Amino acid sequence: QRHQRTLKVAVVGCSHGQLEAIYERMVQMESQQNAKFDLLICCGDFQSIRNHGDLHHFHAPFHHRKLGTFYKYYSGEKVAPLLTLFVGGNHESSGFMAELPNGGWVAPNIFYMGYASVSNSRCLSRLALSPPFPFGHFERPPFRERGSVVSAYHVRSVDIFRLRHLKDGPPLDIFFSHDWPAGITDFGDWETLLRIKPHFTEDVRNNRLGNPATMDLLHQLKPAHWFAAHLHVHFTAVVPHSSASPTASVTRFLALDKPNENPRRRFIQFLHIPIAEDAPLDLCYDPQWLAILRATDELTQFTDKSVFMPSAVSPPTTDDIDSLLHSFGADLRIPSNFLHTAPPEREPWNCKGRPPSLYYRNPQTQQFCE
Ligand code: 5GP
Ligand code: MN
Repeated sequence: QRHQRTLKVAVVGCSHGQLEAIYERMVQMESQQNAKFDLLICCGDFQSIRNHGDLHHFHAPFHHRKLGTFYKYYSGEKVAPLLTLFVGGNHESSGFMAELPNGGWVAPNIFYMGYASVSNSRCLSRLALSPPFPFGHFERPPFRERGSVVSAYHVRSVDIFRLRHLKDGPPLDIFFSHDWPAGITDFGDWETLLRIKPHFTEDVRNNRLGNPATMDLLHQLKPAHWFAAHLHVHFTAVVPHSSASPTASVTRFLALDKPNENPRRRFIQFLHIPIAEDAPLDLCYDPQWLAILRATDELTQFTDKSVFMPSAVSPPTTDDIDSLLHSFGADLRIPSNFLHTAPPEREPWNCKGRPPSLYYRNPQTQQFCE
């Protein structure tokens, strides 16, 4: 019997700025398992804070408004040891994320997926994701008021609308989002979940634990795997689909906890996903997704009026996709074109050795100091 080629994927729940600790844990697990991992997927609350200025656009309680460890990977002091993909959560560097609405590199080897996107990656035929949170109004940057910093992470109905069109394309291997799809708890051991998290009881009973918009997407897109975070607990579920479809007959849902020392609270999990022998190893744009973005571009323009989604938009045809591929040439690989768009944070902070404070700028030195 031939050995099946597999992709070795590590998945984490919320990162909460603890990227350094996550990579340290990965290196440790790699030596224990005597394996090298191909890809790390982070399901939001990633907190890619580049410098103290980014804390102005970071929505979190005061005691959580800290630099974290991402800035070391941004400044170049450290390098991410493997390709890392992340989706936005409700605690993000929202000003920075607004620079990359369709995704992009936030540091060498660390790729943000944007509001919603699809990629072919490292032998997976397709990855997709949706953003974090229930519907709400959405505002453009700069995020000045408390309200607009909150609205920055809301799921836009245009993203759900776009993602729905993926059902006509090739099957999805992995879908990842910050929040759980509301209703997923019916397909797993919710009794154990409620023993660990009794304060979810009301929401589970009323089928509203999670994002109300994304369970329909799960049923329509039928990805083989769906990863999520946000509720800070490990949970699995298996959603059956009708066997008539060419896509996966079940979706395996996996939610993970946030980084912590307790071995019973799992925040990282390793999966070996079977892949084709000849599958490519690069992160690439997905032609169908590019065609969907182009066909729906006018829906993302900012106006003072409410914009409603059309009741129907015909999905991109093979001709649309062919012409798009033609305009790209044959090469859909996402180039490694990371650029600094803000000054990296560097220690020492020049505030008598202490980190500068977010809230006070010294008028003489223009430094943020306490
Ligand atoms: P975050 O880290 O995003 O600020 O907060 C996550 C925490 O908020 C979770 O651990 C969970 O306790 C709580 N939470 C988030 N969404 C819900 C929800 O829909 N229902 C309930 N009951 N709690 C939630
Ligand atoms: Mn969260």
